[in-house]
Amino acid sequence: MIIRSAEFIRSGLKPGHFPEKALPEIAFAGRSNVGKSSLINALLRRKALVRTSRQPGQTRTLNFFMINDTFMLVDLPGYGFSRASKEVIANYQKSMVNYLQTRINLALVVLLLDIRRVPSKEDQAFLKLVQVYGLRYLIVLTKADTLGRGSWKKAWKEISEGFESLEGDPIVFSAKTGQGREKIWTEIESRLT
Ligand code: GDP
Repeated sequence: MIIRSAEFIRSGLKPGHFPEKALPEIAFAGRSNVGKSSLINALLRRKALVRTSRQPGQTRTLNFFMINDTFMLVDLPGYGFSRASKEVIANYQKSMVNYLQTRINLALVVLLLDIRRVPSKEDQAFLKLVQVYGLRYLIVLTKADTLGRGSWKKAWKEISEGFESLEGDPIVFSAKTGQGREKIWTEIESRLT
């Protein structure tokens, strides 16, 4: 994929705030700190289009970026709620359900998981939601550079045991080395055509 343009379009929490122009969308999800901003910036070869390491507690919105005037990347709010209020959690869940359930132009959900961590309850709940709505998804294991290549398979086995059911193989990714970047684009392109 050649990135000719990547432009922030808007943030939103409710369907009325999402972009009206229904270009195909590729959405990225994962717990806070999983490496989501780093991955999106690496895909787009932009240093800081998406801010990395946001302050916890900042408003959790969905951020829409238009790529090459032809499709959208959607940065879904990071989850991980050890210190969040019930209200914050409820709002997050509502906006996720709103988005996943109603967005008919959603072409692919990319779920990011840290290669070193077994899935959290929120990871499990998120994937369940994606499966319940029958959406296409891709799992990306982030921060692959933190483990030796020989440990990736074992790490995936342990992670996959944390989910009830899974389809397809994950892509192993590192923002540091660029490992997996082209494979992720190949998956995205196959969903756009
Ligand atoms: P986000 O909260 O999911 O958007 O995560 P960020 O992209 O802000 O990254 C969180 C932290 O993980 C930062 O300290 C990054 O430098 C680090 N990080 C992100 N990607 C990688 C990676 O591929 N390898 C390593 N070793 N660290 C990473």
